[in-house]
Amino acid sequence: MPLETVDNQLLFTPGPLNTSATVKAAAMRDIGSRTFAMREVTNEIIDLLHSISELSSDYSTVLMQGSGTFSVEAMLSSLISENDHVLILISGDYSTRMADICSIYGIPHHLEEFDESEGICPEKLKEFLGNTSEPFSHLLFVHYETALGVVNPYDAIMEVAFEFNLKVLVDCVSSFGLLPVCTTFPNLVAIASSANKCIQGLTGVSFVLVKHNELMIERKKRTLSFDLKAQSKAFMANGEWRFSPPVQILLGLRQALQEYVQEGGREYRYQRYQNLREYLELKLKKHDIFPVIKARLRAPIINTYSLPPGVDYISLSTALAKRNIVVYASKQKGCFRIGTAGDINQSDVDTLLHEIECVIKGC
Ligand SMILES: *Cc1c(COP(=O)(O)O)cnc(C)c1O
Repeated sequence: MPLETVDNQLLFTPGPLNTSATVKAAAMRDIGSRTFAMREVTNEIIDLLHSISELSSDYSTVLMQGSGTFSVEAMLSSLISENDHVLILISGDYSTRMADICSIYGIPHHLEEFDESEGICPEKLKEFLGNTSEPFSHLLFVHYETALGVVNPYDAIMEVAFEFNLKVLVDCVSSFGLLPVCTTFPNLVAIASSANKCIQGLTGVSFVLVKHNELMIERKKRTLSFDLKAQSKAFMANGEWRFSPPVQILLGLRQALQEYVQEGGREYRYQRYQNLREYLELKLKKHDIFPVIKARLRAPIINTYSLPPGVDYISLSTALAKRNIVVYASKQKGCFRIGTAGDINQSDVDTLLHEIECVIKGC
């Protein structure tokens, strides 16, 4: 029976993103999971991620099988004790997911909600912490809420947390490697991210950058597979993974990290995504398609736009899907989302624009 072939799709999504041909090609090899070659690949990835993170040598990189959520779960379940008290800043879907994880593990937590389209307000946070009598030990938040495409003010939040003596754990899954963060806050415990967002690797491996001494604190074990401490110990003992490593995905990740560095690092990648977004928005404007989130809150990763007048999301996305183009729905009424991250270029954006124009004109 012939294999069904699926064409390569153009992904204007928040991730998994399009990856380069060289990243995909790097994955086309078999390597034994307990070999010298595999240990070398793992170590190179750990070192590259640490240097990209701009964090000090107080932090270690712990790799984890699975997508970003797996590392967020590992981070929360491994680094918070049962007598800690957590404040979660709710600013959208992914911070709600952090709250779900805390509920499942029985981690005592309180939710402080913010307007999703405005993001976290550090002044409001400061006021809340000034007035509360709850003995919070930790603060959790999401750097870039991907559902609407809203950047939370990382530095200002960290400053408030520092003032109130709170340890901080951040979901940086969609922002890592693209949005700048101040890395010198002593209260930053850990950040989690994954291979398949702005790093442009394949899906299936993620990581936590965690302060060494926090990782070493003795805590009651809640999980076997998600145990960051055990995972880290294994890497340090013999450079091996506790359980089967996602070999091919790791080969792809090493290549993606090398390409990230070759491209010039964070600022260059940011500029490339930013140029694509500016080009896209200039053309979208001509079709009365506009960004709906305030400019100061946006980033060139994924953005929410008004649908073209007279066009609904289902017909637009279905027509685009027939051309192997993927855009995303929005939970905001009358809107949809277009990403400008990943291994895409201006001619890919032209392809998208051409197809959108066809839908509008009904050709
Ligand atoms: C993508 C993403 C995640 C992880 O989602 P997965 O489906 O596990 O890849 C977590 N947080 C944010 C902010 C994200 O954008």
